[in-house]
Amino acid sequence: MPDFRSDTVTQPTSAMREAMFQAPLGDDVLADDPSVNALQEHAAELLGFEAALFAPSGTQTNLIALWGHCQRGDEAIVGQSWHSYRWEAGGMAVLGSIQPQPVETQPDGTLRLADIAAAIKPDDPHFARTRLVVLENTTGGQVLPPQYLAEVARLAREHALALHLDGARVFNAATVQAARSGSDVYAEARSLCREFDSVSLCLSKGLGAPVGSLLLGRRDFIRQARRTRQILGGGMRQAGMLAAAGHYALRHHVRRLSEDHANLDQLARGLAEAGRSHPVLQGRIHVQPWQTNILFTDLQADVAPAFSAWLERNGVRVTGSLYGGQTRLRWVTHLDVGPADVAAALDCVARFALPG
Ligand SMILES: *Cc1c(COP(=O)(O)O)cnc(C)c1O
Repeated sequence: MPDFRSDTVTQPTSAMREAMFQAPLGDDVLADDPSVNALQEHAAELLGFEAALFAPSGTQTNLIALWGHCQRGDEAIVGQSWHSYRWEAGGMAVLGSIQPQPVETQPDGTLRLADIAAAIKPDDPHFARTRLVVLENTTGGQVLPPQYLAEVARLAREHALALHLDGARVFNAATVQAARSGSDVYAEARSLCREFDSVSLCLSKGLGAPVGSLLLGRRDFIRQARRTRQILGGGMRQAGMLAAAGHYALRHHVRRLSEDHANLDQLARGLAEAGRSHPVLQGRIHVQPWQTNILFTDLQADVAPAFSAWLERNGVRVTGSLYGGQTRLRWVTHLDVGPADVAAALDCVARFALPG
């Protein structure tokens, strides 16, 4: 039965396993693992950066990047809902001695320019030194418009701030841009990264690799990042087996992200229809706007526990959280759920009835 909890749950395909099996290996802490080096060079070129670094997780590449841009006591402007602020256990403060300055995230996933500007501190010894703005794309499954990215970049440059992109799912954003403009997804990804001093991206989300993240930036920045990775214990030896999976994913699993988006679109439409016509769910399930492979549905409290239990009992796995008095379910499509899984999930929803 379908597992919609996250795009991190995917299993490596047999072709990916074969690429891992065949990968030539070295010692990546000594920088001589050919498979890691090939991935890093390819990714840097693909996305328009001088250099790249392979690391175990996106949490780590974000921390390495923040640490690279900020000294002890410096400040980074982040969104309230950003992964790097909310979902990384406070790593920037705990390990980086960086002060986060959170800014409210708007419903479309942006931070208001005026809010960013207001958060930038003047040069005064009372204040931490504002050094960095962090954006996230996609964020909550939403795509930040390229024009918005350019506006934030202009603001950052006016104040001599660095700009980091948490691009864990930047290829999902690029997929939407490519569909809109009829262009190539890799060209769109490169374009979405253009304004940023550094970008982190996940190989183990929609791209379907078992492990790994990449950090992209200028050569000197990545040289420093390699040192930080070592401090954090992220130096891996025969990491080429993992890099080969990521490299395979970067070549073969980017164009297929549009399938995940199409599957999510089907799922979202079906759930929205349930919100209009299902005997129990009518008016009680609210489907949030969707663009990529992540969907949020809000359930009224009178039906949420029974509905969640029904899904669970039928093996339809989602993640749930409380959100403004309602239960918010998150549905994510990925490599290991197809149209038949979406149909099965919608069938399960259709059969839902209140117990008793
Ligand atoms: C998953 C995720 C990360 C972190 O990646 P891990 O590999 O799970 O540490 C960072 N940012 C965003 C937006 C993510 O979704």
